[in-house]
Amino acid sequence: MLKGKTALVTGSTSGIGLGIAKALAAQGANIVMNGFGDVDGPRAEIAALGVQVAYHGADMSKPDEIAAMMTYAAGQFGRVDILVNNAGIQHVARVENFPPERWDAIIAINMSSAFHATRLALPAMQAAGWGRIINVASVHGLVASAEKSAYVAAKHGVVGLTKVTALENATSGVTCNAICPGWVLTSMVQKQLDAKVAAQGISNDEARNQLLREKEPSLQFTTPEELGALAVFFCSPAGNNVRGVAWNMDGGWAAQ
Ligand code: NAD
Repeated sequence: MLKGKTALVTGSTSGIGLGIAKALAAQGANIVMNGFGDVDGPRAEIAALGVQVAYHGADMSKPDEIAAMMTYAAGQFGRVDILVNNAGIQHVARVENFPPERWDAIIAINMSSAFHATRLALPAMQAAGWGRIINVASVHGLVASAEKSAYVAAKHGVVGLTKVTALENATSGVTCNAICPGWVLTSMVQKQLDAKVAAQGISNDEARNQLLREKEPSLQFTTPEELGALAVFFCSPAGNNVRGVAWNMDGGWAAQ
């Protein structure tokens, strides 16, 4: 379905970004990867799906590096047809204890990077008459949790940016939508489990159950594969008139 298209997925070296990149590659899209850590392993996983894979290591907190990545992506494949703004980090602390530099980093990586990549991707999508921008927000773009001020603020901001981008392009073939996952068992969540284990002296399994019971009525983690399938839907012809939604895949979290 996406043969001949190019998808740039930020933060695609692990977790949800890698799951979405693989789902888009399985539909034939060439992939521009981004993110830190091991690149070769994830790159090989995507390439095994029979598509071309490029990589740019832009730090998504830095607008000039984001610009360099967008130029690189266009140079590799001609154009970015699908932009998935996914890179993100987390920090947990009450507002009065929240380190200002962590606030700035979360706002930059989780929110402002989506603005910079979007503004640079839009002109070519508009000229082509087709484009998909998919913002990986969070259920925390819809509701809040204590001790996540920067993350909740950034994700609510991403949902707002999604709606504005969708409206400004509503009469064109360019759509913009957000995906709002509940708990997904990636390295980001494992760090929060490790903190629970250390603070309460409980097992990893107990920490997992506690995390799910607190928030997620299904008592199940959402998987990167399920989120990848939703991204593919947004890119499909059936997604042509889906514009500005914040679609939660959260086991009922936000329904409460
Ligand atoms: P992850 O830690 O597995 O992946 C994060 C990715 O972002 C990695 O590839 C990492 O290298 C990259 N990254 C981090 N800082 C970066 C930077 N400065 N520049 C470039 N890349 C950077 O975590 P994940 O859970 O897969 O998170 C992906 C997205 O999903 C995030 O935006 C996160 O907020 C969101 N999300 C996660 C969950 C969850 O439960 N895991 C739930 C809702 C939303």
